[in-house]
Amino acid sequence: MSPKEQIQSLRGELREHNYNYYVNDNPTISDFEFDKKLEQLKTLEAAHPEFYDATSPSVRVGGEVTKNFNTVKHINRMYSLDNSYSIEDLRDWETRIKKIIDGDIQYTCELKYDGASISLHYANGKFVQAVTRGDGNQGDEVTANVRTIKSVPLQLKGDDVPDKFEIRGEIVLPWDGFHKMNEERVEQGLDLYRNPRNTASGSLKLQDSAEVAKRPLDCLLYQLAGENLPVKSQFDSLTLARKWGGFKAPQESKLVNSIKEVFEYINHWDVARKELPYETDGVVIKVNSLDQQDELGFTAKAPKWAMAYKFAAEQVSTRLEEITYQVGRTGSITPVANLEAVEISGTTVRRASLHNADQIEKLDIRVGDEVYVEKGGEIIPKIVAVDLSKRPENSTPTVYATHCPECNTALVRTEGDAKHYCPNDMACPPQVKGRIEHFISRKAMDIDGIGAETVGQLVDAGLIHNYADLYDLTVEQVLPLERMAQKSAENMINGIKLVNKCLLNVCCSD
Ligand code: AMP
Ligand code: ZN
Repeated sequence: MSPKEQIQSLRGELREHNYNYYVNDNPTISDFEFDKKLEQLKTLEAAHPEFYDATSPSVRVGGEVTKNFNTVKHINRMYSLDNSYSIEDLRDWETRIKKIIDGDIQYTCELKYDGASISLHYANGKFVQAVTRGDGNQGDEVTANVRTIKSVPLQLKGDDVPDKFEIRGEIVLPWDGFHKMNEERVEQGLDLYRNPRNTASGSLKLQDSAEVAKRPLDCLLYQLAGENLPVKSQFDSLTLARKWGGFKAPQESKLVNSIKEVFEYINHWDVARKELPYETDGVVIKVNSLDQQDELGFTAKAPKWAMAYKFAAEQVSTRLEEITYQVGRTGSITPVANLEAVEISGTTVRRASLHNADQIEKLDIRVGDEVYVEKGGEIIPKIVAVDLSKRPENSTPTVYATHCPECNTALVRTEGDAKHYCPNDMACPPQVKGRIEHFISRKAMDIDGIGAETVGQLVDAGLIHNYADLYDLTVEQVLPLERMAQKSAENMINGIKLVNKCLLNVCCSD
């Protein structure tokens, strides 16, 4: 085989494996074999730059850096959706559309994926551009970043693929990957990502696409757009998109014949969605026939042929036992509601964020109150209301903390700032530890043997007060720390020395 043929054959094979793994969830080779083939391809491509192809599976690892994202006008406007919350809302919607449409109406029911909207453009069977929704008329071009998302096909197949078309969907971060990313944040002593949606949309705007490539993002598709597309219905377009080269159009979508069946779908998924790998916040119901869609058209903001149905977030009531205060790395104070343990959506909840003093005042929340807790797409549940009818007679209004719970310094709050702060930044333990952890994670992800826990021990033992002190540590000093063996102490001290050299530009220029 010539190098060109070898490259082509490897690209074809890897594309197929990518599809089996990321779209079909059914890998046929091991990760190890896959990586070996990918390395082979990369070596060949490096030796033969003349065969460069922007749709090669090797581009998935990223590397392109975008300083400013170009603004692009959408060829077809990206509309929003009207919302409904009850079967009555949906019946009203049906009545409205039946005034315009004669004859039977079928509906495609889909899940409403909670992520960042994206429009993917294809030309001659190749992925050419990705644009965020932005304000609906224009968005940001994020092609280099989206190219790294493994479930986005870069090369399509089939005779009926249009020369040019657009496909829309949602970039999501499945729960598994989201939790893994947060575990790493904990290890690095960084704040947690709050929910998959914001993390997914934030990822699209990262400047370094190699960073995006490391994030376990997924792309779920739901709509074709373009001229003269070979389809007559929404449901068929989903089937066709899957066939054209593995667009991930989730199989949960269903074609139904009445609003009654729509409601069965909603009731089913309101419960079953908890088992899905990604977050959903509702169902989207679409008139199936594209001719009927054309007849119905759009309002200023949304298609008249589609309706979102929002699931109600699960709420439970429980008792507020205590309000405690958490001190962040920057000294910011967050009040935390400590609750009588309660189950929400399958997880046990004991704490909820109260955000700041204003929030406490607004809710007029008091220790002993019966409160309503809600868990939406956020990892930290929130308190939405107080059941005043159950308030104990002797209850007294909450007085916000006046002093830092960690160092007892008087708290300050500057004009216009919602948060209180502990101003003792040089000696307040969580601030000192937080800054050192932050420094370590930013400058030197690879220091062996220093995690949040070790930093805590070092500060508590009085061995370090700031990150500069790290460089003066000796093996003898750290050995007495709990669970510290000779070998790990040496690794740690050597790790710090290495990083110090890096910072001084002695060993590398990075
Ligand atoms: P909203 O942001 O609440 O106006 O809802 C509209 C958004 O829902 C769209 O911009 C899409 O990004 C998103 N969405 C999620 N799933 C679907 C779906 N199956 N069909 C259409 N839009 C969807
Ligand atoms: Zn303090």
